[in-house]
Amino acid sequence: MSVVCFGELLIDFVALETGVEVGDASGFLKAPGGAPANVAVATARLGHPSAFLGQVGDDPFGHFLADLLEAEGVDIRGLKFSTAARTALAFVSVKPDGERDFVFYRHPSADMLMRPEDVALEVLRGKRIFHFGSITMIGEPSRSATLMAAQNAHANNLLISYDPNLRLSLWPSADAARTGMLTGLNYAHLVKVSDDELKFLTGTDRVDALWREQTQIIVVTHGARGATAYTVHTRKEQYHVPGFSVPTVDTTGAGDGFVAGMLVGILERWPDYLSHMPEILRFANAVGALSTTSRGAIPALPSRQTVDAFMRGPG
Ligand code: ADP
Repeated sequence: MSVVCFGELLIDFVALETGVEVGDASGFLKAPGGAPANVAVATARLGHPSAFLGQVGDDPFGHFLADLLEAEGVDIRGLKFSTAARTALAFVSVKPDGERDFVFYRHPSADMLMRPEDVALEVLRGKRIFHFGSITMIGEPSRSATLMAAQNAHANNLLISYDPNLRLSLWPSADAARTGMLTGLNYAHLVKVSDDELKFLTGTDRVDALWREQTQIIVVTHGARGATAYTVHTRKEQYHVPGFSVPTVDTTGAGDGFVAGMLVGILERWPDYLSHMPEILRFANAVGALSTTSRGAIPALPSRQTVDAFMRGPG
């Protein structure tokens, strides 16, 4: 049983130095990225089969990404190559204030042009979890493709996981971003938000406004401070699980590593995962923390052995 991730797959060009804006960087390291693709690779590295549904350009970057996912063991039968647009690019740096600076090349990019009829629904068959994000919901036709895939996953009884990653500059306005990001909640059983995203979506530090009829788990991540989960049984009860202290180099991909850790934890405690949230979160925190200890998203995602050894501690 495995995880299917739907969404964008792109190249992150990561600035060679930290503490600069993208335009001031002297050079960039080419790194594969795209939040749902990061989750697919992280899941595979943690020892569980994963598949990716999405679209890249029929260009050298698109083929580089496809080859890489395949080499990681991700099932890419549902990855399409577009001749109508190039693979998306994102240039990323860590600014002097520690926040990330993003400059996107998507005018449009291949992922944005994915249509409902391009989605390889047969890949969903026999899978246990469907994971998606908000970036493909920014515009059409990829918005309809995303929602159709989520609906189909729902009809096939997959557990649906949603990470409404906030990339404000990609949306026409903050209101459009909020409305668009909230749409995904209508399909998800499991929602992961960072505390910044929670504030943006609700205007508060409370998750109450995010519950929908089918929601089972809402997890709020707090960077180095770890994560808090709310489950359908308890809602008001908080399982806070502190983060791990690590020598952080670059937090790109931490949230995606965390999500993969959580999905793997859920798979390994299926079907009783709701009773095991503290240990699932501890594992997810370990994956998230280790993802910050080197540069880039996919290159920094840890293997299962690394996570297990880290959680056992020294000696
Ligand atoms: P996102 O990457 O989506 O913005 P966070 O920054 O909250 O989300 O990070 C997600 C998870 O990754 C955290 O809950 C934590 O487990 C781990 N993590 C992130 N940053 C650090 C850090 N500096 N040290 C240790 N763990 C971290």
